[in-house]
Amino acid sequence: MEVILQNLTKKFPGRDRKKREDVIAVNDFSFAIPDGKLIGLLGPSGCGKSTTLNLISGLIKPTSGKIFFGKDDVTDLPPENRGIGLVFQNYALYPHLTVKQNILFPLQNLKGKEKLSKSEMLDKAQAAARLVQIDALMDRRPGELSGGQQQRVAIARALVKMPRVLLLDEPLSNLDARLRLQTREEIRRIQKETRITTIFVTHDQEEAMSISDMIVVMKEGVVQQTGKPQDVYDNPSNLFVARFLGTPPINVFEGRIQNGQLYIGEDAVLEMKDISERSVYVGIRPEGFLLQENGPLCCKLNGVEVMGRDISIVSGHPASLNPAIRSIIGADSQIDTSKSTVRFALNPRKVFLFDHETEERMAFSL
Ligand code: ADP
Ligand code: MG
Repeated sequence: MEVILQNLTKKFPGRDRKKREDVIAVNDFSFAIPDGKLIGLLGPSGCGKSTTLNLISGLIKPTSGKIFFGKDDVTDLPPENRGIGLVFQNYALYPHLTVKQNILFPLQNLKGKEKLSKSEMLDKAQAAARLVQIDALMDRRPGELSGGQQQRVAIARALVKMPRVLLLDEPLSNLDARLRLQTREEIRRIQKETRITTIFVTHDQEEAMSISDMIVVMKEGVVQQTGKPQDVYDNPSNLFVARFLGTPPINVFEGRIQNGQLYIGEDAVLEMKDISERSVYVGIRPEGFLLQENGPLCCKLNGVEVMGRDISIVSGHPASLNPAIRSIIGADSQIDTSKSTVRFALNPRKVFLFDHETEERMAFSL
């Protein structure tokens, strides 16, 4: 099911008594979520992710704009008529019901021609439980399950009616690191098997990048960029997006263009003929630094961390905006740790320039 958001806007009345300014939680959001894909809705806390999801589910009404599921305008439909499955961070299971009864619950409220016989309901509950691999736990109560298992029950409950759209709001946040990894792969598998259009909300960029067909990056209610995770990582449209994606994060420097060169502090690091003199922010991905004895960027060497496949060099530079510069090089590289400085050449494809005023990405050719 394709989901189309058309100029979707949600304003909440200001809570502050003196300044009754509205909060624009979602600001003119337009996007077509392709059928059968998993979309990661990503951004820092408070950027409007849950509000967007709640608008799609119908739990809240937009101030303006429209929502379509395929050709159906669902903007004024109540949640129960939209054909959605919802999963939240805090599993929200009924504690006094067994796993089986929890999963059956959405089916028991079906009315009219949708009404199912007891055995049809049981078959569907069993199928949903098998999909999330909890069919052996059907007679337990939520209190007798781990967090990961509880979240699987919540997902089974959301899937049992085979929704047109599956909406997941930070579903992994309450799980420990291992379970989070495992459960996110499960969600990916289930989504691929069912081909249900899925919107996955998270503040965790790595989580979103790893399982999404496409990501939508939001900031303060405004969509910053949409695209395939790798494309957004390789071509961030502004400094915010560049900083939000990637671990370790991108390294940002004060820079300037002068005499056809890009300068970071006193170091002329790249030739840049086609941009006139100006101040810029320079973003360099950790993998964009190349160890080179006479490399143009000279940094103070603070430490070296070996991490299996890779070496992370921690260094400093007076023009760096990050407290520590982190660069990743292959573990077979030789680095002289007795020296107080380290010199790098830069891979220009991993270097981004941003306008100093607007923080928008600037194109350059080499
Ligand atoms: P996220 O899920 O990305 O953390 P939310 O969508 O929950 O963000 O919130 C976006 C903004 O809208 C925040 O500034 C939040 O305080 C505000 N907001 C959310 N719900 C309400 C509400 N019911 N009343 C007033 N303000 C709200
Ligand atoms: Mg939220």
